[in-house]
Amino acid sequence: SVVQTDVLVIGAGAAGLMCAATAGYRGKSVTIVDMGKKPGRKILISGGGRCNFTNENARPENYLCQNPHFVKSALSRYSAQDFIELVDRHGLAYHHKTLGQLFCDDSAQDIVDILMIECDWAGVNIALRSEVLSVTPLSEDESGQGYQVVTSGDTYQCQSLVIASGGLTMPKLGATPIGYKIAEQFGLNVLPTMAALVPFTLHDHDKQRFDGLSGISLPTVVTADDGTQFRENILFTHRGLSGPAILQISSFWRAGQAVTIDLLPDSPIAELVKEWRQNSPQKSLKNLLTTVLPKRLVEAMVNNKELTDKVISQLSNEEVTYLQQYLHHWQIKPNGTEGYRTAEVTLGGVDTDELSSKTFEAKNAKGLFFIGEVIDVTGWLGGYNFQFAWSSGVACGQAV
Ligand code: FAD
Repeated sequence: SVVQTDVLVIGAGAAGLMCAATAGYRGKSVTIVDMGKKPGRKILISGGGRCNFTNENARPENYLCQNPHFVKSALSRYSAQDFIELVDRHGLAYHHKTLGQLFCDDSAQDIVDILMIECDWAGVNIALRSEVLSVTPLSEDESGQGYQVVTSGDTYQCQSLVIASGGLTMPKLGATPIGYKIAEQFGLNVLPTMAALVPFTLHDHDKQRFDGLSGISLPTVVTADDGTQFRENILFTHRGLSGPAILQISSFWRAGQAVTIDLLPDSPIAELVKEWRQNSPQKSLKNLLTTVLPKRLVEAMVNNKELTDKVISQLSNEEVTYLQQYLHHWQIKPNGTEGYRTAEVTLGGVDTDELSSKTFEAKNAKGLFFIGEVIDVTGWLGGYNFQFAWSSGVACGQAV
């Protein structure tokens, strides 16, 4: 049998649930289909299980998109403050962590529960275990006569079709390229995709250099080739480099490029050396450096002969210049990234030039909408990606 619905949303993730509730409140009949056994699976594992559900300071500058203006409208019409008001109405217990990031006190399940309650109140019908198999327009002339969607469950006919199928990260959680395929089927341009907010892997020689450093975390400023900088921690892992600064910079890194890391962002080494020469001239550079850097890291640098173990009073000015370059402009050339398996988001996707920034409707396919991560909008680490899911979901839900 064929189920009729005003709006069909593909994907019961952050964007799809938000869009469905918004459209349902407007009196539309709304159905969400999702291949998963439960809704919001990525929300549940996000933020280490506590879901960093928004960022108080979310601004257009926090997003990568080929058209940097594209996110402005949706973000201003449904801001982080609006989502905070929603969770406040539901009595969510949450806290501010750092840099404007808001997390649940208890569990990410609380966010899914809120969205499910909203969908319930708005009369949204959710069909789980329903994988989308095909989409066809109901009329050949694209005059907006709606769409037919065949799933592994029911078949649906709808006036408005919303694609909220997400990106390619975490294939184990049901990520599929269906959204890109539908876009291409209707002639929309899809920009190349790439894993982002993802740890770096290292070349063998670097793995050897950093052997034994796994678990060390330190505050840095990391700079990409294009000049983008993040001041956050890096973390050595047994596979390579991670930590918030590395995840952030991974969105700006391209294969073959190096990243530059300031290992002592708050203490110019030249000044430290001056001080040390006066106060502890007989101490070794290695010992003194361990007062400002993790001991194991300093030892590895000395063992690798990248740093001298001289007594501080014997350091030449040339050696101080070298130290300055080495510690403040430490260069690493990653071998690659860990890829979609561990990445948090997908760069690229449906070209925003094809979409209205007000409604998220395809300019050349009436009644077809794309929201959330499937489109070429990628937020920084820190709750920005969920905020875009909420903002694009609401903007679209008001327009379908
Ligand atoms: P999704 O949430 O991915 O939802 C897409 C849905 O579509 C899925 O339920 C999927 O099952 C369904 N689907 C796909 N293909 C089909 C098909 N063929 N048929 C039927 N259904 C289909 N962002 C933050 O802002 N804060 C965080 O703390 C955070 N932590 C993260 C941690 C991890 C480990 C990961 C992987 C991501 C994290 N993110 C975080 C990013 C965030 O989860 C995503 O940006 C966000 O979930 C995107 O929402 P979406 O609704 O567009 O897509």
